[in-house]
Amino acid sequence: MDESSAYGRRVADIRERIAAAARRGGRDPGAVPLLAVSKTFPAEAVRALAEAGQRAFAESYVQEAEAKQAELADLSLDWHFIGPLQSNKAGRVATAFPWVHSVDRAKIARALDRHRTGQPPLDVCLQVNISDEASKSGCAPEEAPALATRIRDECPHLRLRGLMAIPAPGATSEESRPAFRRLAGLLAELRETVPGPPWDTLSMGMSGDFEVAVEEGATHVRVGSALFGERTYPGKTD
Ligand SMILES: *Cc1c(COP(=O)(O)O)cnc(C)c1O
Repeated sequence: MDESSAYGRRVADIRERIAAAARRGGRDPGAVPLLAVSKTFPAEAVRALAEAGQRAFAESYVQEAEAKQAELADLSLDWHFIGPLQSNKAGRVATAFPWVHSVDRAKIARALDRHRTGQPPLDVCLQVNISDEASKSGCAPEEAPALATRIRDECPHLRLRGLMAIPAPGATSEESRPAFRRLAGLLAELRETVPGPPWDTLSMGMSGDFEVAVEEGATHVRVGSALFGERTYPGKTD
């Protein structure tokens, strides 16, 4: 078995589990894109997964992502940024990625907007802290309407697609279900209270909990270790 067919089996298995979860949730089994989270894994691993048919990849660290994108420039891949954002890196993120899932404050939104000129609008999700713990990333759910309104009204180069969340670390998938449900509820609320943007995206679910996330309405799941294997180091925090 060569490497790309091993990846092919893993992708097929995860796609099947996503489709089964979508059916359990009464949803279209083909409607949930799989984002392969390639942070900390080398460009060769991305290439092998791309040869197995995977097109959408997600990265968390700007410098690492730029290096991989340069090495893989011959492939036509969709890149999503899902990591913590700092204003001094916003320009590089805004030009190198068509999607950013981790916008959690107005300052970052404005910085991304300023740098996204001469390109199609940047698709963004608000990252929301739905797990009620002292996590450093994600806006509070009650801050989401005001932040969304500002982005809609003040950031013409950003297109608000939806919400992203990372549940409390260590929780089982069933323990995360209420958090996923809250995020879906918040998206439904924003459709009413902040009309205009497409509001078609719920980015939730990782290797340990993507099936429950899909049952609760996820439209994009972000799967790393179940595709690439365990990460041996958490990654550079550049
Ligand atoms: C690393 C990461 C993932 C993937 O996590 P796995 O448990 O390896 O699937 C998903 N989302 C975000 C925001 C991440 O940082």
